[in-house]
Amino acid sequence: MYDVAKIRSDFPILSREVNNKPLVYLDNGASAQKPQVVIDAITRSYSHEYANVHRGLHYLSNLATDQYEAVRGKIAKFLGAASEDEIVLNSGTTEGINMVAYGWAMPRFEAGDEIVLSVMEHHANIVPWHFLRERQGVVLKWVDVDASGALDPQAVIDAIGPKTKLVAVTQCSNVLGTVVDVKAITQGAHAKGVPVLVDGSQGAVHMPVNVADIGCDFYAITGHKLYGPSGSGAIYVKSERMAEMQPFLGGGDMIKDVSKNAVTYNDPPMKFEAGTPGIVQTIGFGVALDYLMELGMDNVAAHEAALRDYTIGKLGGLNWLQVQGSTPDKAAIFSFTLDGAGHAHDISTILDKKGIAVRAGHHCAGPLMEHLGVTATTRASFGLYNTTDEVDALVDALELAHDLFG
Ligand code: PLP
Repeated sequence: MYDVAKIRSDFPILSREVNNKPLVYLDNGASAQKPQVVIDAITRSYSHEYANVHRGLHYLSNLATDQYEAVRGKIAKFLGAASEDEIVLNSGTTEGINMVAYGWAMPRFEAGDEIVLSVMEHHANIVPWHFLRERQGVVLKWVDVDASGALDPQAVIDAIGPKTKLVAVTQCSNVLGTVVDVKAITQGAHAKGVPVLVDGSQGAVHMPVNVADIGCDFYAITGHKLYGPSGSGAIYVKSERMAEMQPFLGGGDMIKDVSKNAVTYNDPPMKFEAGTPGIVQTIGFGVALDYLMELGMDNVAAHEAALRDYTIGKLGGLNWLQVQGSTPDKAAIFSFTLDGAGHAHDISTILDKKGIAVRAGHHCAGPLMEHLGVTATTRASFGLYNTTDEVDALVDALELAHDLFG
């Protein structure tokens, strides 16, 4: 039984007020709030258990190393990876995708080679590929979403030509909520001999994920959206791709030996983890994943699906509000504009006065905004602790905004 009241009590920030109103936190797409167990793990680590990892021989260093390294296994379990050796720990999706761009793609791609992307990618899954376009003459091939915001897997597969070297696609749009059939895309791409990178920043938050079942080559996640600390994250890299990848960052921890004239590298995945990592962030991330696995991602997905359907019904009744993306296969993420109303920033300011936190702007999705023909939207993005009462509070505040601007 999914007890949302009990779950809410696990998140201390949810009981605070903002602008003298109970906080209604609907900015989970940008970053999620943290349960007390994660906050406690951070405090405990810094208060009693902190030291640098891997290099120490003393008690605290061994303790911190064990706790830090245990997270690799938790991530492998959470993502359904065959081995924890396929998990590279990092600071989040942006670092993970840049690592693939610099360490795997740049040494292998030549001028005229192509990367296939969907038009609804986040800048984190666009700008690293622009680097290859600018520096190496790699061509970016864009696949549009349809009028409902859905991405047809076959359209992605059809865009793959003889020069295509990678498909890079999100599993869930941070703007439209659209869920993408990344398994079908991977099967089609692999049939043409092309590896697939999946941006799982939103996908892993809203649904159970199994990378072995998807079959993808790379799957990036970011800890702060998964109810863990900011500055934590990981990327799953299939072992064949790991063997092809060069280190992106050089420094301590990623080497075996360094002399004046030579360097030998540590074994993967350590080869790709240079320098002192986000030790406490990663330990906190592991606790967040324990929390999610205990709740069960199936249960989280079912709760959010009910919230999504309720919200579709409520927002659908506002004939002066346009929700972007109507595909039924979507997470509980709603981007919208209001007829005759001010800029998305003004709407978000009015909602803020009512204690409602939403995001307004381009949501780091420039090509999608261009495709939709809008410069900005207001976005309400739901998480595992949100309630239908909060949807009602959102609708009341939107009616107020419409009255003011309409
Ligand atoms: N990809 C998607 C779909 C996102 O929503 C985000 C964050 O909003 C990112 C990538 C980037 O994540 P981070 O900033 O944690 O690296």
